[in-house]
Amino acid sequence: MTIEALPEATHASFSDFPVSGATRKAISEQGWDVPTEIQNLTIPALLDGEDVVGLAQTGSGKTAAFLIPLVEAMERNARGIQALIITPTRELASQAADELKSLSRHEPVKPVVLCGGTSIKPQINALRGRATKVAVGTPGRILDHLQRGTLQLGSVKYLVLDEADRMLDMGFAPDVGRILSHTPDARQTALFSATMPKEIKGIVNRHMRSPRWVAVETSAPTVDTVEQVYYRVDGKEKTTALKTLIDAEEKPLVIVFRRTKRGAKNLHRQLERQGYKAGLLHGGKTQSQRTKALESFNMGRTRILVATNVAARGLDIPNVSHVINYDLPEDVDTYVHRIGRTARAGKHGVAVSLIGEAEVREFRQITKRLPVEVRESRLPKSA
Ligand code: AMP
Repeated sequence: MTIEALPEATHASFSDFPVSGATRKAISEQGWDVPTEIQNLTIPALLDGEDVVGLAQTGSGKTAAFLIPLVEAMERNARGIQALIITPTRELASQAADELKSLSRHEPVKPVVLCGGTSIKPQINALRGRATKVAVGTPGRILDHLQRGTLQLGSVKYLVLDEADRMLDMGFAPDVGRILSHTPDARQTALFSATMPKEIKGIVNRHMRSPRWVAVETSAPTVDTVEQVYYRVDGKEKTTALKTLIDAEEKPLVIVFRRTKRGAKNLHRQLERQGYKAGLLHGGKTQSQRTKALESFNMGRTRILVATNVAARGLDIPNVSHVINYDLPEDVDTYVHRIGRTARAGKHGVAVSLIGEAEVREFRQITKRLPVEVRESRLPKSA
């Protein structure tokens, strides 16, 4: 199993891809000039009907890499669900659905989002509608629909497993296996993952047909454009340090990460009490609460978002100026994913880690695996 770069991976422009005029127009309206590396490497193979395993993380443009060929594969007049996208989180599912709507805006492909934490009724109604050709969702709710008989996957010809490593981490492997057994063997399958543990290779061997393996430098999107610093501050002082950092900026848009739901709630409460308008995002929130918090942040109505790792992957909000690790991330992957929430699409961003005495060693373990040095810095003087 060798990872290869495709020889045809030299496209300098989207117009070199054999896609419809409608798709080309939609791509250009997204404001994208040239394909990203993962798009260059995977779109031609996927358009050719091949199975593809892509080693790439969020921020690489991987969503469009699997969506552009998906849009091209849709048969407008055929019945039933033709494509299924399985993602580990609700946020990723809705982002993929939104991007699909944008990329198919001139010849609409209607996705239905099948995620938990939200009422199942409207999903069932949408699935009954003939117009729905693509299902995007998380494993639990997709299985729920299969068991209720409200979702049939017998006509799926294009299947995507997005952030497969994350799905494994979350214990979704058996669910994914069950879902795949409801889809035809003759389907085309694309799998994207930021890392390639053994278990993923197992999934690939069991469920994919001689796929193309392509890889892009996983840390590339973050290292170039994210300025990474850390401050030595102890537990109790962290909130003061956080406020000092926020106050020092003109109009910051900040995501503050905490490890636990409880920690996130406490910090959110403290900030609000002290007059900072902040949003809160964690796994215990309902879908509509999450959407509201995200919308408000996206529009800049709340400039601080306190979140757990639920928000570390997939979130794609332009103009996030700072990611602040209030608590240390669990590992280097989480660190990279968290800081990848800033500096989207080549913009500049700052990632700050607040490191207490007890966390110094663990932080060193994380940073020594990074290709760049994370600089120690001094807090700005508070006013
Ligand atoms: P993803 O890795 O799919 O999460 O995408 C990261 C971001 O890159 C999203 O905001 C996309 O809208 C954006 N994007 C995707 N493809 C391109 C492209 N070819 N040029 C510029 N931005 C892109």
